[in-house]
Amino acid sequence: MAELTPAPDGKRVFIQTFGCQMNELDSGKMLRLLESDGYAAAADPSDADVILINTCSVREKPEQKVRSLLGRYKKLKHANEDLVIGVTGCYAQQAKGELLRRFDDLDLVMGPDAIPRLPALLMDVRAGRRELATEQLDRQDYPFTNDLVFRGDRRVSAFVTIQKGCDNLCSFCIVPFTRGREVSRSADDVIDEVRRLAAEGVREVTFLGQNVNSYGLKKSNEIPFHELLARAAGVEGIARVRFTTSNPWDLDEGLVALYANEPRLSSYFHLPVQAGADSMLVRMRRRHTRERYLELVEELRAARPDLALSTDIIVGFPGETEEEHQATLSLLSAVRYDFIYSFKYSPRPFTGAVRKYDDDVPVDVKKRRLREVQDLQRTITDEALASWVGKDVEVLVEGPSKRDSSWLAGRIGQNWMVNFKGSERLCGELVTVRVTEALTNSLAGEVVTRASVARSALPILG
Ligand code: SF4
Repeated sequence: MAELTPAPDGKRVFIQTFGCQMNELDSGKMLRLLESDGYAAAADPSDADVILINTCSVREKPEQKVRSLLGRYKKLKHANEDLVIGVTGCYAQQAKGELLRRFDDLDLVMGPDAIPRLPALLMDVRAGRRELATEQLDRQDYPFTNDLVFRGDRRVSAFVTIQKGCDNLCSFCIVPFTRGREVSRSADDVIDEVRRLAAEGVREVTFLGQNVNSYGLKKSNEIPFHELLARAAGVEGIARVRFTTSNPWDLDEGLVALYANEPRLSSYFHLPVQAGADSMLVRMRRRHTRERYLELVEELRAARPDLALSTDIIVGFPGETEEEHQATLSLLSAVRYDFIYSFKYSPRPFTGAVRKYDDDVPVDVKKRRLREVQDLQRTITDEALASWVGKDVEVLVEGPSKRDSSWLAGRIGQNWMVNFKGSERLCGELVTVRVTEALTNSLAGEVVTRASVARSALPILG
């Protein structure tokens, strides 16, 4: 071990985050760890002593972004030779030492499992070493950090990690290779973190994992996912619980029943389907069928009639025929998701698809299919948003609106953001807002009444 340099009081760190909510949470954890070590957050990379690029490798584009960012930060490093530049997250885990070999100005490459070691790794870097930390800890006693990471500036909503990694090996997905095997965090630990967040004023928690529906299944004596949600919903001060993301295969009746019985479980479910044809689902190594997926949607809507659904769609997966593409479009029409995340397939290293299939759908066909998927969904989303106009909705106020800071913004249980005029004193409270306008991906309205502050008086949410 290199000789350690003194604690970096007064130093500033800039963390740039790409990808999913898991990465957002990881960036929050890294900032928390570094704050305890004397760092402050920098608003701009040019003000920073340490720049960390927290990467995603699920699609190709973020990789390209990282490459171009490294090119840009190189100039900052030439102006300030003490500047430390690190790449963290899934792309770091995927590329490993290759990044250090290719980019001379890079000081640190760190995978997600090494986050707890970040302060020590930066000390080593300051002592003159280039650090590579990409070993994976796939143990049932994996040390989850308990860092209270809030979502956004206001302490209204927070993420809580309940699981890491995934064992499903869907053929397009790099996650099992970058985040490792599935490990569940202990329920007591999770609930302890929820209690501490509630004590800090948090009203809403979002449980994060790659496949939360299988939470606890591989850990003996752990409670199932729906019981974990129910325990969190029962914590004093918590008004809403959410979760993401899941695989339909592991969705069980306990969770469906919870939608019927627990009003604090938000009326929102992100249920990735990926494609509408069974033949595609088989090639993707998804274990659900179209028919079973539609049954699940029906069961969920029977349990919670106002449930908002979203999904992930991949177009142009190897071998995708026009008929299979039409099956995806017809699935969108059948389910009528509130919104979707849709992508063109891109081959990812290590995955089953890259080993087994050619990336044989031409780029222009992928583009056209993506446009058709997105155009259809745009119409459905517009109709879903328009259906809220004139309704009174319960909004958990998060803070000033990003569109106009003189307005407030908050989410309804169905996850739509609602913008309205009101006092900042309402932050963290549930208010009733009458929706007056449907915007592109959000709603606008007017406050009708402040709904409640005391947990005992909370209305049914979602
Ligand atoms: S379940 Fe999700 S994270 Fe796991 S391999 Fe499949 S797509 Fe990837």
